[in-house]
Amino acid sequence: MQAPELVTLLQGRRVAVLTGAGMSTDSGIPDYRGPDSPPSNPMTIRQFTSDPVFRQRYWARNHVGWRHMDDTLPNAGHRALAALEHSGVVSGVITQNVDLLHTKAGTRNVINLHGTYAEVICLDCGHTMTRAALAEMLEAANPGFAERAEAVGGIAVAPDADAVVGDTSSFTIIDCTECGGMLKPNIVYFGESVPKDRVAHAYTMVDEADTLLVAGSSLTVFSGFRFVRHAAGLGIPVAIINRGRTRGDDLATVKIDTGCSPMLALLSDELPIVMSA
Ligand SMILES: [Zn+2]
Repeated sequence: MQAPELVTLLQGRRVAVLTGAGMSTDSGIPDYRGPDSPPSNPMTIRQFTSDPVFRQRYWARNHVGWRHMDDTLPNAGHRALAALEHSGVVSGVITQNVDLLHTKAGTRNVINLHGTYAEVICLDCGHTMTRAALAEMLEAANPGFAERAEAVGGIAVAPDADAVVGDTSSFTIIDCTECGGMLKPNIVYFGESVPKDRVAHAYTMVDEADTLLVAGSSLTVFSGFRFVRHAAGLGIPVAIINRGRTRGDDLATVKIDTGCSPMLALLSDELPIVMSA
């Protein structure tokens, strides 16, 4: 595999990276928007807050699914970006993924645009707790539920740590320990906005870079696409590695239609050598 145009565009430049679900498919987390994936019906914040039965089913599935997310390991693409940060090529990563795989791979400067699976927030008082702490409370309230769900099989890890499991009508959910309010994974769902300070931080990362590299995102969602539009507007070149079309293709200087892991591994092999030449 070769990508001379991409290597030429990135060489000698400080690169900010924007990643999406396609980054984590090689770690076994499905990309519901990928060309080979089934159509998805992502949960909206309104469904979550307005429907107690939906919420109960959500937490039952999440109680099983989150530990699979927690066990998921970074792939060669995540490791390549961490190496590129270490060698000074990559200035930081803005990710739309909630899986923490960039952090697990060793990247230090990560903006988790949509939050992470590992934290829970109270929608009423803003109190946060770790997902692991909530897991202990959910297990105490629903002894053996996760084990029984695992035993019947059919567990699929989804991007939001949801998982497919039946028999959820008896599941007991947990409310905020501080105020009794409604708990939610601290993830930005459809219909919610990314916190303003987080967006500003990400814009700054793009502003300070010489190039924006998009890896594994179709840029369908505006929360990611806006950074491509922002970069293009400032004359900062945009490179895109993604399997299939993206909303940003017309704004990209270079577009490589392929999976992330092999291409990023190639970049981490070639770019430090190019830079020191
Ligand atoms: Zn609360």
